[in-house]
Amino acid sequence: TLSARNIHLSFGSNHVLRGIDLHVPQGTTASVIGPSGSGKSTLLRVMNRLIEPDQGDILLDGRSVLKDNPDELRRRIGMVFQQFNLFPHKTVVENVSLALRKLRKLSKEEAQAEALEQLDLVGLKHKADSRPANLSGGQQQRVAIARALAMKPEVMFFDEATSALDPELVKGVLALMADLAKGGMTMVVVTHEMGFSRNVSDAVTFMDAGVVVESGPPEQLFTEPKTDRLKGFLSDVL
Ligand code: ATP
Ligand code: MG
Repeated sequence: TLSARNIHLSFGSNHVLRGIDLHVPQGTTASVIGPSGSGKSTLLRVMNRLIEPDQGDILLDGRSVLKDNPDELRRRIGMVFQQFNLFPHKTVVENVSLALRKLRKLSKEEAQAEALEQLDLVGLKHKADSRPANLSGGQQQRVAIARALAMKPEVMFFDEATSALDPELVKGVLALMADLAKGGMTMVVVTHEMGFSRNVSDAVTFMDAGVVVESGPPEQLFTEPKTDRLKGFLSDVL
């Protein structure tokens, strides 16, 4: 279970997060939706401590993580971004095994074996010895997901993981994310894919201008939005 409580963050005079609460029970998927600039990416970055909040607390299994070593937390939370950030000069299997050696301190052989296993899970074992540039964008993103999963994270964050992909490649990545969700991974998914939010996530949080405007089960938010702000957002994106 991951909880953010009353998170505040400013960049200079820009008060970007204004008291955010987010509660993600173990094994569930929370989607976060909202207009550009509403603070979604910043919230994810605060929750895995790439940025320290000005105020508020982040709890993993009921314990505050703000005093832990940030590197330790980043091992517990896997993150997948819009840009895959694979190392271009390394092979696919090396991209996945590198962090296993560095962070989980596995031997070269152990890391290689485990990387291949993760690649198999995302359907890309046959690409193990290719360079990222020789993969499609969707395949590269699945490698990035395999790389994050190889760390055996307790929680996975996705920030617009399909936004940089050509339309025909989006489906495969969303299907992989849906499989992960069904498999019981705890996930926070920032997305513009309303189909995923509605059909896969267990709970939806709608953010606007640094606050949570509405949150609840997808059925409720998508069929009975209470606020004009959510009604307006849905009519723009659907
Ligand atoms: P999008 O849907 O476009 O990705 P978002 O909801 O993820 O938007 P954020 O990226 O969290 O929005 O940005 C929220 C606000 O914080 C914006 O006003 C942005 O300009 C500002 N911001 C984000 N990162 C920084 C930074 N590193 N330094 C200063 N301001 C920042
Ligand atoms: Mg963003």
